[in-house]
Parts: sequence; structure tokens; C-alpha cells
Amino acid sequence: MVRLSTQGRPQKGVPFEATEVAGKTRPHMSHPNVLAIATSGSTPGREYTILRRLAGGGQGEVYLARDGDREVALKVYHAHMGGAEQEAMVRAQVREDMSRTPDQRRFVWPRDLVRVAAWNRWGYVMPLVDRGRFLDLGELQARRGKVVMSPRRNAEAGYQLSSSMRALHLAGHCYRDISRNNILFDPATGEIRIIDNDNVGVAGDTQSGVVGTPEYMAPEIITGRAAPSSETDLHALAVLLFEMWTWHHPLHGDLECRVHCWDLPAKQRIYGDQAVFIFDPRNDANRPNDPDYRGVRAAWEIMPETLRRLFTAAFTEGLHTPARRVTEGQWQHAFLQLFDGALRCPCGAELLWDPAAAGPLRCWNCKKAVAVPPRLRIDTGAAPFHLPLVPDTQLLGHHLRPSHGRGEPPELVGQVVPNPGVPGMWGLRNLSGTPWTFVGMDGATRLVPPQRSAPLTLGARVMIQNRTCTFES
Ligand SMILES: [Zn+2]
Repeated sequence: MVRLSTQGRPQKGVPFEATEVAGKTRPHMSHPNVLAIATSGSTPGREYTILRRLAGGGQGEVYLARDGDREVALKVYHAHMGGAEQEAMVRAQVREDMSRTPDQRRFVWPRDLVRVAAWNRWGYVMPLVDRGRFLDLGELQARRGKVVMSPRRNAEAGYQLSSSMRALHLAGHCYRDISRNNILFDPATGEIRIIDNDNVGVAGDTQSGVVGTPEYMAPEIITGRAAPSSETDLHALAVLLFEMWTWHHPLHGDLECRVHCWDLPAKQRIYGDQAVFIFDPRNDANRPNDPDYRGVRAAWEIMPETLRRLFTAAFTEGLHTPARRVTEGQWQHAFLQLFDGALRCPCGAELLWDPAAAGPLRCWNCKKAVAVPPRLRIDTGAAPFHLPLVPDTQLLGHHLRPSHGRGEPPELVGQVVPNPGVPGMWGLRNLSGTPWTFVGMDGATRLVPPQRSAPLTLGARVMIQNRTCTFES
């Protein structure tokens, strides 16, 4: 993270500095049971007991604290970092309820502003994240080969990340510092958490000094022409998503290899106005030809075509034209399609079926062609969504509206069930509260009331919640 600050240098010997011993942090013994008192937020006057230091950063230290019988995380700012502007930003954040939807709840959001009288400092309280379960991209990368996220879990993480960023942007905020350090992943499920939210600001507001991390900065930021905005967030989001699929930066190719001194002017060349995508189809100046970069070349070859197209758009026209960046909604649609289009080959391998791919689906493991089941094609208003239909497939509310994000629990709209009257035939049962309209091949229509089924007839249509859904093969 880069903070444009002209404030003073860090003070040495601040009283609450924890001591690093053999790579582990031990609590500072000179101040047991230091109290932090909430001055603003959900419960002014609430007392938190600081237990031990968890981590430190440029802005402050994060502690484990106790709130009654619950544990929380508590950040305390360094004296030279927690200025009045920062405090005003966090004060505004604790007033905002970011707990209403699953997309909002992935932000580890400041809950109470606190005063730590013993240290003459202030800070804020936030939920505690299980760092045994949630890992950052660097930690995942270090465990590559042991704890990898499957492609389907990666698609889930991409869906959650783009859904949460959409929710943040819709609330009028920009994140400013999307980077591999601020997003945590559960590799077993693809769930994510977004940390370090105290720099989230109002879009277009230039008061915060935080402009991001150079690797994730949009060209207009690193060249100093623009302040962070939701459009610059979209660039950082695309860089991080690319890293999640390739373990590589989209602008690190031959141009970067020729840099001898990795200083700010060099970064401004690689990430700024002369930035070139390593797989730009019209400009091969920055191909990842270095032998060390064979991993990204292999990852690009096997990446789903839908993602190759979106990354190409994001890092060619979207790189230098902010209004042409890939939107959160486009990412949501693509990742949801890959997640819910996942199929299992008879050999056991997990495959991501991609509607944009040409030719038959081939298993990456046994190399055999794999039959794709019939699909429900949903005209979502943007690109169509294709739901493969196998016994028990559930049609959920977010399949009809991918950019709205998932409910919790997801809204159950329908399910593939056997036709009781005709063995071997299947239908889509209406599990919603409103009737559907079935349009047969002859154009005749009939109602499908709740708990009844529409026959799964190829070419027939069903109108579900104002969406036209067509059975396709
Ligand atoms: Zn196979």
C-alpha cells in the first residue's frame, strides 16, 4: 500500500510495540488488561480488553481483544498515522451498517471507534477473522501443491469478490487498495473476506492519502492524473483475479524483464501509460518469454475461454480507457457460469464447462470427450446464463439475476425432478411462490403453479420471474 503522507516519521519506542521472538509475537507484558472504550459506533461506552498483538503494519497494530465472552480484532493507529481525517473516515464507517447482505458481510468492517486512554491512542474494533482458515494469496501460493483451490472454488472466490465490490461501489464507496494483501480466501470453499477497510472512502473524494499498491494501480493513478475511484478499483480487481488464475501479474513480461532497476520510474513505465498486456493479441512487445514465466503461459492455455476474453478486454482497451473496463457484473456472470457449469467426468475429474468454448468438452485428466447435459438457457437481460440440468439441479434466484449476488440462504426457485407419470422423463418443479408460464413447441401456453412441474422438453420455454428460460441441448 502506498500512502501519500507528509506526516512525521514513525516514533521509536512507542509503549505498546510488541516484541518479535523467533518469528512469533508474544504479548507485551508491561500492560496487561489495557482497556479500549468505544466512543462511537454500535454501543458507545462498551469496554474491550486488549489481550495480545496479532499483527503490525504501516498504519498501526492489530490486537486480539475481548468483548465479554467474544473475541474481536482491534486496530490501534500509530500516533503519526491516526490523524483527524483518518478518524473522521472511520467514524463515518462505524455509522454505516455493512451487515445486511452476504456481499456486504465479507468486508471485515469497523464496528466501534475506540479510545485507548492508557496509550493515548485511538483505533477501531472489527470482527476477528480465523487466519487458520482464511489465507492470503501469498500464503496460498506458498502452499501450492498442498492446499490449492480447485478451479471451481476459484470461480466461487471470483464471484464473491466481484459481488462484494459491486455492493461497495453501489453504496458510493471505492476500496482504493485492492491487492493480494487485503483479500483472504478459504481454499476449501472459495469463501473470501476483505480486510483493511479503514481506507475505504467515498468515490471521488481525494482526502485519503491512500492511492493503492503500485502493482494494482491503474495507469491514470500511477502517472498521477487521477485519484482512486470505482473505475480504478476495477483495474485492481482485474489484476487480482488474473493473479488468482495464473499466479502471475498481467503486465510482467519481456518489458519488465529488461528493467534493471525496479524503481518508481520503471514501475510507471510498466504499469503506466506504456503498459502492455502480456497476452495482448495486437501487441506482442511484452510476451512472457522468460523461461521462469512458463507457468503463466500454461495457465493461459488451459484457462476457460470466457475468462481469456474478459482478461484481454480488461488489459487492452480497459487498461487505458477507464470507461471500457470489465465491470463487476461481467465478472459475476462469468464466474457464476463457471461455478454452476462445473461437471464431473466419469474418471472423477472436475471440469468447468464454458459456453464460450469451441468444440466438444474434453477432460483435462483422461483426455476423453465429455457429454454436456441439456441446459436451461436463461435470458438475464445481459448475456444469457446456461444452467446444466441433471437430476436434482436447483434453479436459484441468482441464476436469474447473477449481478444481484446470492441471498443467504439462496432463494430456491425450482428443481429438476423425475416425471412421476413417465419413467425416464424429467421436469423442472416450481418451488417458488408464483406461477410460471410454460410455452410448448407449438406455441401453446399453460400455467405452472407452485409445486407443479414444467416438462423438460427441448426447445420449450418457461417464463420465470420475467425471465425467458429455454430448454436447450
Ligand atoms: Zn476424465
